[in-house]
Amino acid sequence: MKITNTIKEVRKNVKAWRTEGLTVGLVPTMGYLHEGHQSLIRRAVKENDRVVVSIFVNPLQFGETEDLDTYPEDFAGDSKICASEGASMIFHPSEHEMYDEGFCTFTDMTGLTETLCGKSRPGHFRGVCTVVSKLFNIVSPDRAYFGWKDAQQVVVIKRMVMDLNMDIEIVACETVRESDGLAKSSRNVYLNSNERKASTILQEALKIAEKKIASGVRASHEIQKAMIDTISAEKEVKLDYAEIVDLKSLQPVNTIEAPALLAAAIFIGETRLIDNYIYGI
Ligand code: AMP
Repeated sequence: MKITNTIKEVRKNVKAWRTEGLTVGLVPTMGYLHEGHQSLIRRAVKENDRVVVSIFVNPLQFGETEDLDTYPEDFAGDSKICASEGASMIFHPSEHEMYDEGFCTFTDMTGLTETLCGKSRPGHFRGVCTVVSKLFNIVSPDRAYFGWKDAQQVVVIKRMVMDLNMDIEIVACETVRESDGLAKSSRNVYLNSNERKASTILQEALKIAEKKIASGVRASHEIQKAMIDTISAEKEVKLDYAEIVDLKSLQPVNTIEAPALLAAAIFIGETRLIDNYIYGI
């Protein structure tokens, strides 16, 4: 497995692979890899001849009060995971390599990026779309792998690829969880033991919603209320949002029809966690 921090080196290798007629998969990450990331890499390795894992904590997608400076990292551990899963290359650029002095071009989107996480994290998806389109231009993969854990991100990236005619297949992968249901996340490391216990309320609220849908309830307000009441009962936790939206438009729905996205975000202390349940795919 090669490790590089230059765009030039990535391009040189991808070009050589292309000359041999090989397919290329890309797994964009911010590092501190866990089994969620691992499942994306594993799938990419299964479906492509060569896989590039990018590890880059993208400053553009963090708000001023967010955790950019404390975001966890463990490059040695990440490298071991990538190698053990059969990745061909890690692209680990510096901030300067990605955003040279004078950088002033962005990939932006309206509508889809203004709801859910976009509402509480203004500018976040502009940063995500910009870095992902840059990575797509650098690697030119056949396929790129993203997790449903960040469902809005999946919807946004699929739309970006469609709108900008990028010839890349977006593959969305299932959320990998801890045994008690908490979605694996690099940010879980911030939680102390009390907070970790309280964090399961997020999955609990979504499970209650899932059961209500399974029992035939279709009124969004009833299910949304159940999610909000469940989360609000946990003292350690502050609700950011719990919403039910159409999976394509990300606009709220009155009646739940497949495919619908039930998404929630909470704060536990300083840590913000998100999770979702997708009905009907
Ligand atoms: P991040 O490093 O947090 O930017 O995540 C990189 C990619 O891994 C994104 O596409 C995430 O949606 C995905 N991912 C993060 N956590 C999980 C998880 N628990 N299960 C599946 N995919 C995940």
